Amino acid sequence: MSACCDHGHDHGPPPSSDRYRLILWVALIANAAMFVVELAAGLAAGSVSLQADALDFFGDAANYAVSLAVLGMALAWRARASLVKSASMAAFGIWVLGQAAFNLATGVVPEPMTMGVVGTAALAVNIGVALLLYRYREGDSNMRSVWLCTRNDALGNIAVLAAALGVFGTGAGWPDLIVAGAMAALALTSSVQVTRHALQELRVPA
Ligand SMILES: [Zn+2]
Repeated sequence: MSACCDHGHDHGPPPSSDRYRLILWVALIANAAMFVVELAAGLAAGSVSLQADALDFFGDAANYAVSLAVLGMALAWRARASLVKSASMAAFGIWVLGQAAFNLATGVVPEPMTMGVVGTAALAVNIGVALLLYRYREGDSNMRSVWLCTRNDALGNIAVLAAALGVFGTGAGWPDLIVAGAMAALALTSSVQVTRHALQELRVPA
């Protein structure tokens, strides 16, 4: 779910081999692409849970970008990068909550087919990226981080699929709103934690 990969600032140790860097690039592009696809599909289908799930792809793409970009740089730069990331995730989370409130007020019923198709694609991308990272992991600690991230991301994708089923079954928008609300709340909580952690790191003299 949205809080998943934000416990650290990146996905494991800094990339040292060319092959591992390539995998990180693939992961970055796949996550950034799914962010755009899920956000666009969420807007088109009137589904807030799809938009909330897109938040996670945004956060993960940012994590991979940080892993690649600030490699070998001072901790302070990594901390600043995660401040920017958590601020944008918080803004996006608030926006998702606003969209949810709008849908609630106007009684928008999202289109469950789009939710199902895009949610399934999101699940496939998350599992595919996890398999890549798992296969080319460097060090044992990364194994655990890949597993935790993927499990939480998959749970988020499955929550979207459950919301799609709920919307399909009830013909109402509330299953979408409940899932979106929970995911946005998680993202907000997590960005507060990341912000605290980053501020702490910035306070430590280099
Ligand atoms: Zn994630």
